[in-house]
Amino acid sequence: MARRGATIEIHGAVQGVGFRPFVYRLAAEIGLDGWVRNDARGVFIEVDGSAADIDSFVDRLRSELPDIAAIEEFELAWSEPRGHDGFAIMHSESSAGATALILPDLATCDACMADVRDHTNRRHRYPFTNCTNCGPRYSIIRSLPYDRPNTTMVSFTMCGECHVEYGEPTDRRFHAQPIACPSCGPTVEWIAGGDRVLGVGSIEAAATAVRSGAIVAIKGLGGYQLVVDATDVEAVARLRTRKQRPTKPFAVMVADAAGAADAIELDDDALAALGSPAAPIVISDRRIDAPITRGVAPGNPTLGVMLPTTPLHHLLLEAVGRPVVATSGNLTDEPICIDDREAMQRLGVIADGFLRHDRPIQRHVDDSVVRRIDGSMRSLRRARGYAPLPIALTRVTRPILAVGAHLKNTVAVTVGRNAFVSQHIGDLATEEADRAFRSAIDDLTAMYDVEPSIVAHDLHPGYRSTEYAVDPTRWKDAIRLGVQHHHAHLASCLADNEFEGPALGVTWDGTGFGPDGTIWGGEFLLGDAKAFDRVGHLAAFGLPGGEAAVREPRRVAASLLSAAGVSLESVTPGTGSFTDTELGIVTTMLDRGFNTPTTTSAGRLFDGVAAILGLTDINTFEGEAAIALEHVAAPTGDTYPVEIRSNVAQVVDWRPMITAILADVAAGVSAEVVSGRFHATLAEAIVRVAERVGHPTVALTGGCFQNRLLTESAANRLRGRGFVVLLHRRVPANDGGISLGQIAVAAAQ
Ligand code: ZN
Ligand code: ZN
Ligand code: FE
Repeated sequence: MARRGATIEIHGAVQGVGFRPFVYRLAAEIGLDGWVRNDARGVFIEVDGSAADIDSFVDRLRSELPDIAAIEEFELAWSEPRGHDGFAIMHSESSAGATALILPDLATCDACMADVRDHTNRRHRYPFTNCTNCGPRYSIIRSLPYDRPNTTMVSFTMCGECHVEYGEPTDRRFHAQPIACPSCGPTVEWIAGGDRVLGVGSIEAAATAVRSGAIVAIKGLGGYQLVVDATDVEAVARLRTRKQRPTKPFAVMVADAAGAADAIELDDDALAALGSPAAPIVISDRRIDAPITRGVAPGNPTLGVMLPTTPLHHLLLEAVGRPVVATSGNLTDEPICIDDREAMQRLGVIADGFLRHDRPIQRHVDDSVVRRIDGSMRSLRRARGYAPLPIALTRVTRPILAVGAHLKNTVAVTVGRNAFVSQHIGDLATEEADRAFRSAIDDLTAMYDVEPSIVAHDLHPGYRSTEYAVDPTRWKDAIRLGVQHHHAHLASCLADNEFEGPALGVTWDGTGFGPDGTIWGGEFLLGDAKAFDRVGHLAAFGLPGGEAAVREPRRVAASLLSAAGVSLESVTPGTGSFTDTELGIVTTMLDRGFNTPTTTSAGRLFDGVAAILGLTDINTFEGEAAIALEHVAAPTGDTYPVEIRSNVAQVVDWRPMITAILADVAAGVSAEVVSGRFHATLAEAIVRVAERVGHPTVALTGGCFQNRLLTESAANRLRGRGFVVLLHRRVPANDGGISLGQIAVAAAQ
């Protein structure tokens, strides 16, 4: 049979996933000659063989591809045979045009854990065991292509045995860049006070400390974590005191799926997410008999649970024998710590001991968070396991850099039709966060070789992200594009759904800079990525004291009451914690409009109602009051009255609702019932506005739609009236999704 030649070029998530050994085995099995190699752009294959054999090779390449690989582009070019003899795996070449995808860090696979548990295996109890199907990726990459010298493993010289595995195409560790073993790889150590233990004994020492109530800092995949016994009331309380985090929920790490099932209600999707290579924190309803102290998530009916993500975590959890709190190693809202010396300094005041190792972490990657809302697992925080996999845009765009907003910041760049959204960076309120923000931009632009022609940013002039974007000393050739915050939310939700639009965007959150100089946040925007009309919004109210009203829901309560025409002196719930002097000042501010910016924020409306019900007077973390209101709610179909006025836009006047809530409170109706009615009222108000606007597709986006009850009530009511509903899935509805929205808006200009 006549021999033919073929060249195959593959782009996608094909590096560091065992793709080349897979190609090698397939070619050897079919009997083709040629080679496979990686470069910064993707995987290249040349084969010689019969046309039929090459056809079957191509078919099987596509159908038998390794689990975690994802092909984005596949090009086949036939040619004359090139005279290859045998099949080889060639070394990577670096070349221009980096488009190969960087893989996220992947949780340890079952085969590697079997090695770790096998007494006869040379990796028995070795905490850095990995293979081409699992282990660190994004957190160790310094540059592309993804090869060992370009990772933080460069300083570990492979031993003879590892070298053989690394070079053997049929081995699970063939070209596994972080390959390591006890004789050549990173070493774990335990440091506490004057004690220092090296090697496997260090995990036992750390476990003993955790069991006796100590706070232990662990160097994880993408940064330091703080761990305490989740069954120990006092240890959890001590962690809260030292971390200055009075009430914000902690996540829990359990040893295995059975441990997760003891802690939270698990359905098949939640179980699949927990056990996936991304291994995110899964939020679900806490089981009444969960063996976890209430202080882990005070007053919270849900719990965030994850499984061990590295052999180090597996071994520790097994040795502790109980669920542990596993929270980011940082002070309050700083980014997770990655540098060893910095960790000793910053976490030294919190942790009683350190379980650490000598493999450097190149960049911080927090744990991701997902929750089932409206029938699907949805991202609330996108980081480890997901970032920086791309979100495909509907068309090829110019190179764009988007710097996100302020809270829950992420940044993003585009290459072709891919948007690469960074890992969760956090609130840009500290120097550390600012540094993490800048390095995330440097990382993505360097790794993907992006020289942006547009830099997109929020309209808020005071955000650090905006200050960075408009600084004329950088990105000198790029156009600046200010994107309205809620327009970015709408565009993000459309992009997440690969829907061009237009849609009615119900964009509800805490704060966004409005072009009219007021603070937006309860918006109905009709449009697409290109343009929007503000077709509706909540009736505006004052925020006495501005930022102070964001921290103190009781100030918002005072504002809502005064708007509803209620004398503040006569009402105690919510405003009862004010001293007479404070109440006097707030009243004066509201009466005179002094230091009282105007807002249409839905998030603040939640805050105010939570305070009226006496749930939260003062927030200790962002969203606390609104979350408390969601958690207390007894779901119901009953609604309060609201009035919808048509002016230039549909204005949802919530004052009749406040009056009705006060009547309920006075009649002794419980907070559970009032909150249930409040949620139903807002869901119904959304439907009424949607019906007046009359557009068939409605996108629910913005931080308020992390609220499961609000989202599900609104989505169900909308569908019941014939609307198509779009919700976020891969990127968060909160400001973590803003950078993607800014990309979409910039791409549409
Ligand atoms: Zn593995
Ligand atoms: Zn070795
Ligand atoms: Fe927002």
